[in-house]
Amino acid sequence: MKFMKKALIIGGGVAGPAAALFLKRAGCLPEVFEAEEEPNPYGGLFLNVGRNGLGVLDELGVGEAIRESGFEMRVMSFRNGAGKQLGAIGDPHKPHGVTVKRSLLQQVLLEQTERENIPVSFGKKLTGIERSGNEITAYFHDGSSTTGDFLIGCDGIHSRVRKELLPDAAPPSFTGLISFGGFSRVQGLAPEPGVQNMVFGKRAFFGYLVKEDGEIYWFGNMSMNGTPTRKSLQSIPEAQWRKTIDDLYSDDPAPILDIIQGTDANINAYPIYDMLTQPVWHTNRAVLIGDAIHAVSPNAGQGASLALEDALVLAKCVRDSEHIHQAFALFQQLRKERVERIVRYSRSIGQRKHATSPVQVFFRDLMLPQFLKASNKQSLSWMYDYPVRWNEKVSQLNGGSVC
Ligand SMILES: Cc1cc2nc3c(=O)[nH]c(=O)nc-3n(C[C@H](O)[C@H](O)[C@H](O)COP(=O)(O)OP(=O)(O)OC[C@H]3O[C@@H](n4cnc5c(N)ncnc54)[C@H](O)[C@@H]3O)c2cc1C
Repeated sequence: MKFMKKALIIGGGVAGPAAALFLKRAGCLPEVFEAEEEPNPYGGLFLNVGRNGLGVLDELGVGEAIRESGFEMRVMSFRNGAGKQLGAIGDPHKPHGVTVKRSLLQQVLLEQTERENIPVSFGKKLTGIERSGNEITAYFHDGSSTTGDFLIGCDGIHSRVRKELLPDAAPPSFTGLISFGGFSRVQGLAPEPGVQNMVFGKRAFFGYLVKEDGEIYWFGNMSMNGTPTRKSLQSIPEAQWRKTIDDLYSDDPAPILDIIQGTDANINAYPIYDMLTQPVWHTNRAVLIGDAIHAVSPNAGQGASLALEDALVLAKCVRDSEHIHQAFALFQQLRKERVERIVRYSRSIGQRKHATSPVQVFFRDLMLPQFLKASNKQSLSWMYDYPVRWNEKVSQLNGGSVC
């Protein structure tokens, strides 16, 4: 890239601030525009940042802050609704990442943008985009607008930027599952460092971990018909949620009900959508990254990590390309195969969570131990050990590319 470029970054979740930080290093002038009025400390539950995502956070100098407040993930231990151990996956000697509150990950990234004097504006919900010559203009809900040299859509799964750039793009698909959960404490429940407990309950899936200080992070997944939205789930009164969830797990082993009852604030619920990706990720002046172009369901714990990888790889492409449209094309070429593989992998895990009829449950419990054994033998190194280093030049090889 030969001269300074003003980069308009739409969305201040995970991909947005990370892209701004790397683009500044690449010599651009990034500016972030976020729809929410302010950072929300209750914006979401928790998510996994895999070894691959932590590597990107280390490149930004914030990996330690996440490791310190997160929960190191080593082993996932699976039981069925009768309390029978079905197996475990993972390596007790090699963490595959950390579980962290989503709001904390966002906060750490936003604080870093502040330290690096990158402007971040809240209350800027994008409503439209206009391209003219070598410039691109973003229009916001409050009537304001801003013009830059290029634009990055980091506005999540229901991306407005995607609708503007790719009006014919297939929408995200509802996986048929909703996720709900919260933060809890249960007297006498011992911390289990490194262990995430997963229970294929009689009617729904349940996961939890107990931190050293006794705080419990928990989530449940249940099947739902239709196409619920985050808003429609939020409108369900808290008491109704509690009753539904208590009934759902009433026949499952301890400590599930104790954990739900010990939840200290509202139970947070959202529908799980995913999107395999789109044939095209960019126009000449704008590109989509993170959930805006390839949304992974949370089953594989890779949504945030892929968004972070995207941010780094995109900025390297901008740094090492002559023209911005070449950078965007190279970015798509480098990322498409990997993200599609992870979206598919995550879908395959989610499908096992749907089993609720006695016959389905019988066969799942029969097959799952074999599946877990096979998973343990099969290395997930392709997912967790993806090398993305800022100092290495991005280049195209014959028929392929390296990042
Ligand atoms: C409120 C919220 C809660 C979440 N909770 C969880 C969770 O508990 N567990 C989990 O695994 N994943 C959760 N996710 C998804 C997870 O954060 C992403 O999968 C992952 O981090 C990828 O990051 P991203 O930056 O691509 O998208 P996101 O993290 O979704 O960030 C997108 C950002 O764009 C903003 N935005 C949206 N529309 C506009 C617009 N028109 N103009 C400007 N800004 C806009 C959003 O407010 C958001 O801050 C949540 C996402 C959100 C938005």
